[in-house]
Amino acid sequence: MRIDLHTHSTASDGTDSPAELIANAAAAGLDAVAITDHDTTSGWAEARAALPAGLRLVRGAELSCRSPDGRGGYCTVHLLAYLFDPDAEAVVADHARARAQRRRRLATMAGRMAEDGFPVDADELLAELPEDSTAGRPHIAMALVKAGVVSTVDEAFERFLNDRGRYYVPSSRTPVESSIETINSAGGVTVLAHAFAHHRGPTVTAEVIKELAGLGMAGVEVDHPDHDAEARARLRALAEDLDLIMTGSSDYHGTNKVLRLGQETTAPEMLDAIAARATGVEIVTAS
Ligand code: AMP
Ligand code: FE
Ligand code: FE
Ligand code: ZN
Repeated sequence: MRIDLHTHSTASDGTDSPAELIANAAAAGLDAVAITDHDTTSGWAEARAALPAGLRLVRGAELSCRSPDGRGGYCTVHLLAYLFDPDAEAVVADHARARAQRRRRLATMAGRMAEDGFPVDADELLAELPEDSTAGRPHIAMALVKAGVVSTVDEAFERFLNDRGRYYVPSSRTPVESSIETINSAGGVTVLAHAFAHHRGPTVTAEVIKELAGLGMAGVEVDHPDHDAEARARLRALAEDLDLIMTGSSDYHGTNKVLRLGQETTAPEMLDAIAARATGVEIVTAS
């Protein structure tokens, strides 16, 4: 059984369309795949329609949240949300607010770069992005690649787009406590994504994870490409201690990142545990 529960499509900052993502998941020999675009469920229908026999689809999303960091301040965390009702009022409102703010933010970042002479046009970038898909820094990065300013998306992040750079604007972040509540109320299940990916920026302490678990967060992503062996060991111990679901996933973004589908995987009993807790929508199999 090969299960990958964290992937992105063109509904946010991946490069595969939802249908291509499903085809690539099947080609990679996966038995189950989750589509977890940032702040949108707009890829769900196309992914479902493309589903071949033998591949199960877990519908989800990845939410950017603001969390206490456990050191007296705050930091960004990403929350994976699975099998929630996409039509729940609070879900629809949260997603719409996040996407609108991300568009304004992309325009601000691109505008600052254009002022400095970079060949990026905010209006052009946004015109190419459907309203129900989610704008992210990788869209600016791809424009810089296309214009020949950098040769890879990674290089664009290293030189211009990382959160220490002069063009960086933070994206909107819902309080993590509120996102957990919204997803739980919509029958979904929440898993903290890449919690100890230290090179991405500040991370939360174990104490914070314990508090979030107390608020109804169901699991933690243990195996993730951005986790070193120590991060995985600490998360695994914490999950065992707190009786949390443990997942492993690639965080595939198509050609925007050098990651393979199924590079990290989730144990079948962990997906069973997610499905058992969810009451929003079901895991889809091809009919
Ligand atoms: P944003 O959500 O707009 O803040 O952009 C963050 C997204 O950019 C993450 O979800 C990743 O998909 C992507 N990302 C972050 N760092 C890098 C990097 N070094 N190379 C490629 N993509 C990255
Ligand atoms: Fe992303
Ligand atoms: Fe993430
Ligand atoms: Zn992701």
